[in-house]
Amino acid sequence: MSGFVFSEKPITIESGEGPYLYGADGTEYLDFGASYACTPLGHSHPAVTEAVRAQAAELTYVQASYPVDVRTETYEKLATVAPEGLDNVWLCNSGTEANEAAMKFARSATGSEKIVATKRAFHGRTMGALAMTWKKQYKAPFEPLAGGVEFVDYGDVAALDEAVDEDTAAVFLEPVQGEGGIHPATVDYLEAAREVTAEAGAALAFDEIQTGMGRTGTLWACERAGVVPDVLTTAKGIANGLPMGATLCADWIADDPGNHGSTFSGGPVVCAAANATLDTLVDEDVPAHARAVGDSLVAALSDAADEHDLPVREVRGEGLMIGIEVKRGANRVLRDLAIQENVLALPAGRTVVRLLPPLTIDESHADAFVDAFVEVLG
Ligand SMILES: *Cc1c(COP(=O)(O)O)cnc(C)c1O
Repeated sequence: MSGFVFSEKPITIESGEGPYLYGADGTEYLDFGASYACTPLGHSHPAVTEAVRAQAAELTYVQASYPVDVRTETYEKLATVAPEGLDNVWLCNSGTEANEAAMKFARSATGSEKIVATKRAFHGRTMGALAMTWKKQYKAPFEPLAGGVEFVDYGDVAALDEAVDEDTAAVFLEPVQGEGGIHPATVDYLEAAREVTAEAGAALAFDEIQTGMGRTGTLWACERAGVVPDVLTTAKGIANGLPMGATLCADWIADDPGNHGSTFSGGPVVCAAANATLDTLVDEDVPAHARAVGDSLVAALSDAADEHDLPVREVRGEGLMIGIEVKRGANRVLRDLAIQENVLALPAGRTVVRLLPPLTIDESHADAFVDAFVEVLG
């Protein structure tokens, strides 16, 4: 992802537990990036570790055309927790693949080609998903990409209304833009997107690859608005660090089985990890916990910024997907946090420090982050 490399002091990681990573030299790092939201339950969660260990010993892999209980369970679990009606589940190995599938399904179901995406969007790095990604720097060396993508300002209802027509296959939106700087959509915008696409016969696709799995305080970010898309893609945290992506579709979007495929789709070991992750997230109501800790972390960061007169423009986000817009280079702040305070976080563009900690952190971890942040910026 974005090039944030500690060039003068590479951090070699040897192990992890909960919200902590441990360096080869024994240094303990508080991990507020969770490697881009990939470990919502924290590192080496015992339920996931045990599920993986047991499944690897039983059956590591068999192709998706043979039903295997552990994979069937993943289909069922995802269909159960999916937003209403999105119970057709397609499994793959990454976020970008989940979006490629969504693009193909939407084109195939509508017979149309045009895709409407948003400025600042990030949807992945393969030739289709990359075509819906905004940043020129990611795209320029590889053009021409998949055609037919039109970009509109994120949050602008009139622009969306204008761009979507009968020739539109889909509108792709992140309910909270991640890579683009942590920008939550308003409820009105998501509702308008639902209306505009329904009227045009286009699919509404929510990219919940980063926002899904409880990150924003509900299992799916779109629950906050009560808007159900036709396709929802997710990945990152779905198997607490093992590679899986999922495309959840309404009946009218689900393509004929056989039209699209992937050899490793729903591998048993990865499915075992996903099942344990989903069970834990749901049974322990981790999303509600994330909302509570996230709300107080945002408040504490804003208070600290005021109290210590920190160079902070804004603190924003949903649940434990938080952006701190700083009045200086984010990478410099991140480097100081890592090297001086042993705290890891992420950038989102040049001026936003992005926090995507494990959802299982408690107030003491949030306080430790705030203290480190004040230390570095004060
Ligand atoms: C990370 C991300 C992707 C791409 O996922 P990969 O697993 O890296 O291919 C797509 N969309 C969003 C919103 C993401 O955050």
